[in-house]
Amino acid sequence: MAKTDPLLLTPGPLTTSLKTKEAMVRDMGSRDDAFIAINKSFQDTILDIARAKGTHVCVPLQGSGTFIVEATLGTLIPKTGKALVLINGAYGHRMVKILKTMGRTVESLEWDEDIPVDAAELDRTLTNDPSITHVAVVHCETTSGILNPIEQIADIAASRNRSFLIDAMSAFGALDIDATKVPFDALMASSNKCLEGVPGVGFSIIRQSVLEQAEGNAHSLSLDLFDQWQTMQKNGQWRFTPPIQVIRAFSAALEQFKDEGGVVGRYRRYQENCRILVDGMRKLGFKTLLSDNLQAPIIVTFLIPKDGSFDFQVFYDELKDKGFVIYPGKLTKVPSFRIGCIGHLSASDMQAALTASKQTITP
Ligand SMILES: *Cc1c(COP(=O)(O)O)cnc(C)c1O
Repeated sequence: MAKTDPLLLTPGPLTTSLKTKEAMVRDMGSRDDAFIAINKSFQDTILDIARAKGTHVCVPLQGSGTFIVEATLGTLIPKTGKALVLINGAYGHRMVKILKTMGRTVESLEWDEDIPVDAAELDRTLTNDPSITHVAVVHCETTSGILNPIEQIADIAASRNRSFLIDAMSAFGALDIDATKVPFDALMASSNKCLEGVPGVGFSIIRQSVLEQAEGNAHSLSLDLFDQWQTMQKNGQWRFTPPIQVIRAFSAALEQFKDEGGVVGRYRRYQENCRILVDGMRKLGFKTLLSDNLQAPIIVTFLIPKDGSFDFQVFYDELKDKGFVIYPGKLTKVPSFRIGCIGHLSASDMQAALTASKQTITP
């Protein structure tokens, strides 16, 4: 079966290893000691990856990545707070939409999709508006694949004494974040991106002293991370039915992550995947949206040639027939498409995808 599944060169869900998939073929009770041990162990691993043990806690939640973003914003930003979202793509916009939906006061600063967030402009805005309590940003904006200068932004937020929240969904596990050097109150990510689990669970790494003050903030019962944390502290159990098979797969994926050498090993493989992809596509005549210094090795945006010679749908369908799934573009201004470098993909998979691309566009 696994042989006929296409490779997913997308921003997620991603191609997972057979070992990860195999971890799901077991039933287990949610109160089983073995399951409680798995939970404790995966949360420990997450905190280790971020060097956040002792200062932060890991609070998991069922659902796709957006659920953990919504839960984190709702739990940490009080109704009297005011959030500033730094936007250079769709996921920044999504945070604004989430905050508006839950009735929080929100402002934003926006840059074009190919421009990194500017820490100096953040500094000016925080100086001019003392009522802003929280700053939120996306680490790697998956819309374009651009890397935002997370260290600089964290430093500004810290020096201006504001709470700093990071949507690191598409970066965590591949791009290093060290909580002892990058001060954040929350970092959100999910099982199914660079950690290469299956979809279904998200987690937030939250500064414990901040979470302790967050009782009663949440706008929602099922998305209340304070409550989720309190319950897990008491008996190691989830408040509501946990996605057991997803968590078993996640735990297996994290073991493979460690075997690969953690963030260093994963970054190296993705970086190599990205280099092969970008070099190869450029040889085929495609241009990347971003210059190499702004490009994170997560997902690459290619511009659709202006001469009308290229039909994305045809390209997509033919690649799919050859066993590779790519992704439409998400830019608001220029037609584009995206190819991912993350997931259980090797250099030879990337070469094979390029060979298939070449066959597809050569008449
Ligand atoms: C994938 C992703 C999310 C979450 O998206 P879901 O479809 O809900 O899993 C959030 N932020 C970023 C930056 C992402 O890449």
